[in-house]
Amino acid sequence: MIDLRRYARPLVRAARMARRRWERGPIRHETIDVGAGAPAGDGAFDGARAFELLRAQCDMGPRAPGTDGHRRTLEWIVDQLRPHVDALVLQRWEQKVRHGPGAGRRFAMTNVLALVHGRDGADGAPDLMLSAHWDTRPVADSDPDPARRALPVPGANDGASGTAVVLEAARALRAHRPSRSVALALWDGEDLGEYYYGSHAYEAAFRRGTVPWRPRRGILMDMVGKRGLRCSTEGNSMRLAPELWRDLHACAEDMDLGAHFGGRAYTVNDDHVFLSRAGIPTVLLIDYDYPQWHTTADTVDQCDAASLRIVGDVVLRYVRAGAA
Ligand SMILES: [Zn+2]
Repeated sequence: MIDLRRYARPLVRAARMARRRWERGPIRHETIDVGAGAPAGDGAFDGARAFELLRAQCDMGPRAPGTDGHRRTLEWIVDQLRPHVDALVLQRWEQKVRHGPGAGRRFAMTNVLALVHGRDGADGAPDLMLSAHWDTRPVADSDPDPARRALPVPGANDGASGTAVVLEAARALRAHRPSRSVALALWDGEDLGEYYYGSHAYEAAFRRGTVPWRPRRGILMDMVGKRGLRCSTEGNSMRLAPELWRDLHACAEDMDLGAHFGGRAYTVNDDHVFLSRAGIPTVLLIDYDYPQWHTTADTVDQCDAASLRIVGDVVLRYVRAGAA
């Protein structure tokens, strides 16, 4: 059976975007000390480790802004990144939510920005930014059971999967540095209210020139952990960053992983739209054919290490061969 709500999602989101007004407090940047630790492991993307990072997030419970799980997960992300990155900055602000889940409330939100230096050293500006959203949706409003639609989404795939790939990529890049620095970012507030608060705040700071470094293009990952992954053919990515889209898929073909890409066509609004609008052309890797999307069934057992590894392998190949 075809779930029409899934096809309606981009239209509903576009309508919300059109009428949205942003009510946001000042954006502050807080620099976190990082340990100059020795590299851990080798430069290969470890799918099993990434899967454990996905599971660890889910073990902290739902991670919607304002929850305990959200606070704990932010501390955990900082702990995960500190040994593996050369710079770490928290981008913080207070966000008023006008519509949708959380409407009428204000939330403390935080984007996590990190940098792994390339072999060109500390002065090298990052060319590429790898990113994902780390928050989860406070309501399972697409759950087939109406009685469960007020419950929070576990967010194994929608939230934890992309975050796990970014965190494991940090370790792998630090272990075997690329020729150029790589920026990493984890966005908050993607999945409540009017959506995409994190990338919108980043866009505003980027335009004002207050962000700590200025990547020139980006890869966003969202819902990349599903068993039997096949990333969608995503219209906004092909329009906003056609060259990067083509090069990334060439990497997948080179690695005989092309069968996991080129899935059904969708045009998805996500954080990459705001990043591209800011001047950082960004592609979105997403498998949008996920019946558990925004349901209470978005759980760890829907995901596996193999899928995370496919995405991690292709992205690292691009970093090292394409952009590097
Ligand atoms: Zn979502």
